[in-house]
Amino acid sequence: MSDAAPFIGKLAIIGGGLIGSSVARAARDNGAATEISIADTSADNLSKARELNLADSYHSTALDAVGGADLIILAVPVGAMPTVAADIASGLKAGAIISDVGSVKSSVLKSLTPLVPAGVHLIPGHPVAGTEQSGPEAGFASLFDGRWCILTPPEGSDPAALDTLSAFWTKLGSKVDIMTADHHDLVLAITSHVPHLIAYNIVGTANDLETVTRSEVIKYSAGGFRDFTRIAASDPTMWRDVFLNNKDAVLEMLGRFSEDLTALQRAIRWGDGDALFDLFSHTRDIRKRIIDAGQDGDAPDFGRPHDS
Ligand code: NAP
Repeated sequence: MSDAAPFIGKLAIIGGGLIGSSVARAARDNGAATEISIADTSADNLSKARELNLADSYHSTALDAVGGADLIILAVPVGAMPTVAADIASGLKAGAIISDVGSVKSSVLKSLTPLVPAGVHLIPGHPVAGTEQSGPEAGFASLFDGRWCILTPPEGSDPAALDTLSAFWTKLGSKVDIMTADHHDLVLAITSHVPHLIAYNIVGTANDLETVTRSEVIKYSAGGFRDFTRIAASDPTMWRDVFLNNKDAVLEMLGRFSEDLTALQRAIRWGDGDALFDLFSHTRDIRKRIIDAGQDGDAPDFGRPHDS
């Protein structure tokens, strides 16, 4: 536990799942708030959060959780954000900061802006950190350590509120970057959203194949397929909402992806080994740069144990 003074008085987290519970844990461990409240519509998740002692108070309605809060973090699926924002509007105190952790930013900014009362600062955010698991038990305090948190303040945002939110995420262990919501959505479309779509697609295709039995797909999964299944096990509600809310950027990146895939198809058909070798050398270098940037470890096969 850090001895430093907290940045935030009361922190209200709406949605105590993987990300919300990790924010609660990290805020507690790092002394980033004096008081934490959690709201969740799932009675089961709320009682798990209570058992895990993640907060000081637990609420079945978001409105109950936000009373007196200095910082409100919406950690629900992107599609649920407007409903939550409308529900809490009357309970927000003047000067409070309302933010979120949603994986898409433009639609959140657009839908929340008219719902946030005057005198309350809306600054959407996205911690680029997570796992394929869901729920309060899946969270952990170190999730944000050394990972980027992207804040997307609308034009004219209060600089002091932005500083406070940046300081909060820094205290949780994140590195903070600031960009427009549109730019965020374009970047994340290629680094996160399209890769998830590809994983969902390849696992779905393998499952549908009739020439390879399903048991063989499972049995020989170590050959690359297994890594796609981890991503394709991600939360269906969350990812449905990502694709519905980042439609334009995803379709733009998917178009580029399809063109490049066609070029690869051609290289294979015409036996163009140089084209394949050049691309594979370049992609290997990108993996090295991710490791050098501290965004992943260099253990072979992601550090999975192997019997000798
Ligand atoms: P999660 O583990 O499923 O947690 C979401 C929680 O919110 C669940 O307990 C859910 O209850 C609850 N909830 C749903 N609607 C609600 C409402 N209207 N009011 C209050 N609680 C509600 O999901 P997550 O992975 O933490 O994702 C939360 C947000 O973080 C999403 O916007 C996602 O885009 C973003 N994000 C996720 C990741 C990741 O890797 N998972 C990374 C960065 C950002 P039910 O289970 O009953 O629906």
